Amino acid sequence: MRIEFKNGKSFALIGNPLGHSLSPAIHKELFALSGVSASYSLLEIEPEKLPAAFDNELRRLNGFNVTIPHKLAVIPFLDGLSPRAALFGSVNTVENDNGTLKGHNTDCSGFLKALDMAEIELKGSVLILGAGGVARTFAFESALAGADITLAVRNPEKAAGLRNELKEKLETETKLILLDEVGGGYDLIINATPCGMFPNVQAAPISEEAVKNSGAVFDSIYNPKETLLLKYARENSVKHSNGLSMLVWQAAKAEEIWNGVKFENDDITKVIRGLENE
Ligand code: NAP
Repeated sequence: MRIEFKNGKSFALIGNPLGHSLSPAIHKELFALSGVSASYSLLEIEPEKLPAAFDNELRRLNGFNVTIPHKLAVIPFLDGLSPRAALFGSVNTVENDNGTLKGHNTDCSGFLKALDMAEIELKGSVLILGAGGVARTFAFESALAGADITLAVRNPEKAAGLRNELKEKLETETKLILLDEVGGGYDLIINATPCGMFPNVQAAPISEEAVKNSGAVFDSIYNPKETLLLKYARENSVKHSNGLSMLVWQAAKAEEIWNGVKFENDDITKVIRGLENE
């Protein structure tokens, strides 16, 4: 899609493929709430076309978000990184400060704000299900919070990279178990797998028994609103949250960087309600 540079500021999401992204709807609501006149476009860029995109339209934007497969690939084109983006080696938000491009990571701040909103504490024993892209954010933040981390996966070989990175960068040891081996008693369980996501809504990555004795559950999935894993949590009176607040907060944190605005929990709740009603 071509970007139209109209009156007001211009922002975009770059990735490939982008499919049906909620980002334009979320940003439109956040622009309206903060009184900023701006547009937000979707820009599918194939990996080999990224350098040309930086030479052309990307530098003309006031800022942009970055998703798969460009979160690492954009880094050589930027003039600087925030401490979190540098530590994570991953950028999801680029700020254009009069031609100087700075990379940020608001997935992590979005995650922390989402936990905060659900009154879930990131401490004690944290069980992370999965070891892919979003699990990396959860694992790094859990390590920075001093939590005792267990990764539960279906392919232990694929989790070795994340384990090594946590050890090398943050001197954090993690336990690694199979999803089938998960027992109960964790302070927080975080689902970072797509297991339970629409249309496979009858699936859960772990048993109800494991959820029953835990302190809280955070599911990164937001479609459906209540996964089977979250149903287990609700039915056993375990504090829980789905991933929509994280998605909206990471967008809000990007706008705070771009536009110098500030959002509160009430604003985020309004945007979430709007999305749920659509
Ligand atoms: P990813 O990089 O592909 O990683 C997925 C992880 O889940 C891998 O460890 C994978 O294991 C495991 N996995 C996949 N299918 C599984 C299954 N059926 N049973 C058990 N494990 C399974 O994906 P991602 O980008 O991290 O995204 C993961 C989920 O988080 C998605 O549902 C996505 O929508 C959600 N997400 C939410 C937000 C938010 O803001 N709320 C942000 C990002 C992602 P293998 O390595 O063995 O394949």
